[in-house]
Order: sequence, then structure tokens, then C-alpha cells
Amino acid sequence: MSELSNISLQFVKSVGPKRAKAFADVGLRTVEDLLFYFPFKYLDRTNILSVNRILNFLRNGYEGEVTVIGTVYGKEIIRYGRKQIMKVVLLNEGQTFECIWFAGIKYFKELFNEGETYAISGKPVITKYGHLQIAHPDFDLIDEKENKDFFNTGKIIPVYRIPGKIKAAKIGAISLRRIIHNAVSAYANKAKETLPAVVIKKQKLQEIREALRNVHFPESPVLLKGAWERFKFEEFFYFEILVALRKYLRKEKLTGISFEIKPEPVKTFLDSLPFELTKSQLKVLHEIRLDMQSPKPMNRLLQGDVGSGKTIVAVVAMVIAVSNGYQCVLMAPTEILADQHYRGIKKLLEILNYNVINLVGGQGKKQREEILSQIKSGEADVVIGTHALFEEGVEFNNLGFAIIDEQHRFGVEQRGKLINKGFSPDVLVMSATPIPRTLTMTYYGDLDVSTIDEMPAGRKPVKTFLRGESKLPAIFDFVKQKIAEGDQAFIVYPLVEESEKLELKAATLYFEKLSKTVFADYKVGLIHGKMNWREKEEVMINFSRKEFDILISTTVIEVGIDVPAANIIVINDAQRFGLSQLHQLRGRVGRGKRQGYAILVAKDEYLKKVKLKNIETDYLSPAEKERYKAFIRLKSMEKYNDGFKLAEIDLKLRGPGNIFGTEQSGLPQFKYGDIAEDKEILRKAKSAAFEVIGNDPELKTPDYSLIKKMLFTNFKKNLEYIKIA
Ligand code: ADP
Ligand code: MG
Repeated sequence: MSELSNISLQFVKSVGPKRAKAFADVGLRTVEDLLFYFPFKYLDRTNILSVNRILNFLRNGYEGEVTVIGTVYGKEIIRYGRKQIMKVVLLNEGQTFECIWFAGIKYFKELFNEGETYAISGKPVITKYGHLQIAHPDFDLIDEKENKDFFNTGKIIPVYRIPGKIKAAKIGAISLRRIIHNAVSAYANKAKETLPAVVIKKQKLQEIREALRNVHFPESPVLLKGAWERFKFEEFFYFEILVALRKYLRKEKLTGISFEIKPEPVKTFLDSLPFELTKSQLKVLHEIRLDMQSPKPMNRLLQGDVGSGKTIVAVVAMVIAVSNGYQCVLMAPTEILADQHYRGIKKLLEILNYNVINLVGGQGKKQREEILSQIKSGEADVVIGTHALFEEGVEFNNLGFAIIDEQHRFGVEQRGKLINKGFSPDVLVMSATPIPRTLTMTYYGDLDVSTIDEMPAGRKPVKTFLRGESKLPAIFDFVKQKIAEGDQAFIVYPLVEESEKLELKAATLYFEKLSKTVFADYKVGLIHGKMNWREKEEVMINFSRKEFDILISTTVIEVGIDVPAANIIVINDAQRFGLSQLHQLRGRVGRGKRQGYAILVAKDEYLKKVKLKNIETDYLSPAEKERYKAFIRLKSMEKYNDGFKLAEIDLKLRGPGNIFGTEQSGLPQFKYGDIAEDKEILRKAKSAAFEVIGNDPELKTPDYSLIKKMLFTNFKKNLEYIKIA
């Protein structure tokens, strides 16, 4: 690729071999590495305030953070008995303000020198002497010339993170900025373009050389924005090229099974149900049927809110597959869910005499061998299990249809592995985590999407109330009243620490406390994450048999567990949960005929709306921001029952990584782009990428040769995966 990746950093002006070593220690070895070491923020005049304006804001009740520029004027250590405070006084446009530190006194005393200019950020207060003061601020050193330019020309100053090892090599903020400036001046013009010219032109993007200059030393906010757009577009674009290729290969290249729809078994099955399918269920079933009949392999996402009846639809599709002589597999994210599916589906399919078996971890050796041999011989029609299904040694006779429940917990690669066990089986992915449309379009661009957007008739929406902790006695009285009417209740406590030991302790503590005091006259059960799945299952079964009135849970109650008489859920410290988690929890109740209730209990302070003064939310401190977001989450839960609506709100509040849980999701993390913030760029990148693959899937035209080259140099691993799948 570009030669810049072959030029050692030491040749950049003001670097040299010694400093180059420090850079290498943090992974910056070549000129290219440095050019792509982007600022993490910028100082520009629009987000900097004068002392006067800040004082004004504070007098009007503003409580957020500010940035102000100042030149060090004096410093002193103030002693109060044995305590010390370090104070630095700075000058800003003829007025002083002060920064104070209660710790690191010696360090800060050495750091700040008279005459140095800093951009200072933090949460200001007015002292009793009327001074503007910021405690433990963030600060960025800027030099004299920068400061002048800054105010005279409205220049934007880039701010780079300085890793410890760089700092140790005596490279501070100003020298790093200078070094990067030198690199950009000497080399940005030699960077090789990484996006095809046709795409750049059509999308009106900055070329790479221009974008590199603008991302570091922009002449204007507009150019700065354009530079980031280009880099975001680029990473989305290559991601979507891969998605488009995956879709193309599965749809156009592979030949799958063309199932014949046999009316009798389907009818027998549907007639055996005590209810009619909803319109929405019939609609998605029709879509699935068309896919199954087609010789192209189905690759479909079936989404629908908790309890909307996805499982029944999937079972009808199983009937189609088995009646064509194929095996089906259903993969669930946890053993307890696999087991529940196993019991439920076995019963549902009894009428057709299908052989339904389950394969999970922890089964005895003999039992496991027997199961494996049934899968291999084809005796097993429907196999239900967990990731144990990935393991070597699981061989199918003729797998024709795979269902993956709760898809977001499985990585794309795992999906691929399972699919390889059959000859391009049809794949249906079921998700009860409503995925916002913007995401399905992009992340899951290779899946077709069917949505159940209607609840079975007679299902009443759960009534949701937000209450402060001070109302707990009244809430418990309400729970008792409902139990007297025949309901059961979940009481959930969040996991405070990610430690199993602590969790067990907390669980036991709450259990003992409640079962000995408020609920001494009731039967109280306990479920927690330290139990193995069999123990958990036993508790859930006992609960559904009404052996307890109340189930206390510290961990999230497993997704999908069905207890029809559980109509109340009390969620403590609800501010700690994410929106989709709250919605999933709420989905545990209201599954029967009676009215369901969800009571969200939060610390009283979370019920108060966070005051937003005339300054945008950006100026809130991290703690205030957190409180603000929690407030929106809790209020949204009260207001909406629709999981898709809530998912959109969640996406806005938290960004996608958090919705899915970064680690398990298998979703890529973008370096520059943020799919919540940069939806529009993502949408453009997607359509550009799909257009390319639509025109020329083999990337044969010279216009696209660069894409091919990029794929082979940067995305080799991803390509391998596509071939496997
Ligand atoms: P999901 O998998 O979408 O969470 P399920 O398929 O488990 O939902 O269905 C939830 C409950 O609703 C089950 O008890 C199921 O038998 C029932 N159910 C499904 N479809 C209907 C329907 N059309 N009418 C009434 N009840 C239904
Ligand atoms: Mg389900």
C-alpha cells in the first residue's frame, strides 16, 4: 500500500530516533500511523467562554462544565492545618480565575509555570470572595503563537491524547502538536487514496490528502466536519461492502433447498393450537414460506416484541422442513431457555409424532452419545440446544433448517459455523430485542427482515409506574393485595458489582430481609446467577407451579421464561438498567389474562427532571448526564410499551454497542463513526456499497479495482469468513 506505511516516524521533523522509540512503544511506528493519530477534541472559539460570561451563567443557575483560556499568573500552596491546597491563578482577558487541587499538589506545582497558556475545562463555582474557581480541571497547554492565532484568526486547535509513554519521553501537548504538524506538512500530500474516485465524486467527499490536513489542522469548522465525514464514510463503506458481498454470495451463489409446502401436517398442527394466529403472525409466516419454497437459502431475521408469538411461527416452519424429510435445529442462548424451548416444542409437535431432542452442556456421557447418534442417523427430527451444538462431534444427517433464538447474543461467525453443518440450510434468526430500523438496515443488511408488530388478542399492555424508594412500603402493600387476588410477583435487584461472590451475598441478604420482615407471611423464592441452570430451572418451575408467591432475583431473570400468573414485577434501582433490559424485564409479566404491572423503583433524586438551562446538554458533567439519561429512560418506560420505540430511544441515549453488549454481540466497533450519531452517513455508505456490489459483484471494472485491493489488504479475515458462510 501507501509508502507512508514504510517510512519510519523518526524521519519526521523534530522526532529523531529517541522520540521515535517512545512513539513505537504506543504503536505509532510509521508516518502513516501518525497521520492517522487523530485529535480527540478541538479547541475553537465557539466552545470557549470568557470569565465574565461564565460568571453570568453561574449567577443564572448554570451547573455544567465550561472551557476557558488563561495564562498562568501565579501559584501558591495554601495550608489548612495538615491539609494542603494547590492554587493556580490564571489571567483571561484582563480578569483572573483560579484552579485548585486537593491532591497531586507537588505534581501540579511543578507543572504550571508562569506565562504558560492553557485551555482549562471543568465545573466552575463562584467563591465567597466572588472569584471564578474550578477544582481539578482538565487542561490543555497551548503556546503563545497558537493562542494569538486562535483569537486573531479563529483558528481551530487540535487536542491529542498523550499516552503516558509519550509524556515520559518529554513530549508534551505543544510538541506533539508541532510534530504532527510537521508530519502533515511534509507527508499528507503523499498519502494514497483509499476510496474509489467515482465514489468520492458522487458522494462529494474530501480526498484523503485534503481530509488528513483538515482533520488535524482545519481552516474552518466546515472543512473539519467534511474531513470526519470522509473517514466515517470510508469505514462504513467497507463494512457495507462486506455485508453486500455476504448477501450476494448467499443469495446468488449458493443453492439451497426448495421445500415443498405440504398442507396436511401444517393444518393438523395449526388446528391443534387453542388459538388462531394473529394477522401479523400470518404475514411473517407467508414471508418465511416463500423463502422456504425458493431454492435460494433463506437468511431471515424474525423480530417481534417479547410475547408476540415468534416461537409458534418458527415451529410452523419446522413442520414444513420436517415434512420434507429434513432435520431442524433451534439454538438458544442459554441452557434454561433451550430447555424451555425443548419442553414447549416437544409438546407442540407431539400431535405430529416428531422426534424432538435436546443437546445441552452437562448431560452425561452416555446420554450425550445417544443424542449425538440420533442426530447423525437422522432419527432426530428437531434438535434443540445451546452453543454445545457448535462443538465438534455434532454431525447432522441432513440439516435443512436452522433457527437461532436471541440472535444478538451470537456472533456472526458462530452463525456461520452452525450453517456449515448443513448444506446451505434455511436460516431464521429470532430476536426479541427490538432492533431499530436504522440498525437492521445496516448491520443486518444481509438478512431479510420480518416483523411481528401485533400482540395476540386479549393481551393487555403492562401498566408501568415510576416511583421513588420512599414509596416502597406502599408498593409492597400493592404487591400483597395482588397476591391476594391470585397473582405472583417478581422483585428484581440489579447486580451492583460484577462479582459472583458479592452477588450471592446480596441475593441472600435481600431474600432474608424481605422473607423475614415485609413478606414474612408469604412464600418467597430466590433465583440468582450463582445457581447452575438446573437449579434455576427448578426454581422457575416451582414458581410457575405457584409454590411461591414472590420470586426475588438479583440477576436478570432469563429472557423468555414464561410464568403466566406472574403479573407484577418490581424493579429496584431501576436507574441502573438499560432501556432494553427494563423492557425485557417488563416482558416477564402480563403474559396471562390478568392486568400486568411493572413498578420501577428509583432513588428519589432520579425522579426529578435534570435542569437544562439555556446551554445544551453537552455542558452537563458526566454525573449529570448519567442522571439525565436515566430520567429519560425511566420516563420512556412509563410512556411506551412498544419495544421498537424504546429501542430507538435507547440507541439515541447510549449508542449501539451498549444495546447489544459489545463483547458478545459480534458486531463490529467503528473507530470513527457512531451509528447512532452518524445515521445519515451510514445510510449513504450503505447505498453506495450496495450499488457497487449490485453493479459489479466481482469488482471487475477498473473503477472498483481499488475496492478489491483494499479488501485483500485490510479485510482478508472477513473475506475468509464470507467464503465459509
Ligand atoms: P415470543 O417467542 O415472541 O416471546 P411466544 O411464541 O413464546 O412469544 O408466545 C408467547 C405466548 O403467547 C405463548 O404462550 C404462546 O402460546 C402464546 N401465543 C402465541 N401466538 C398466539 C396467538 N396468536 N394468540 C394467542 N396466544 C398466542
Ligand atoms: Mg420466545
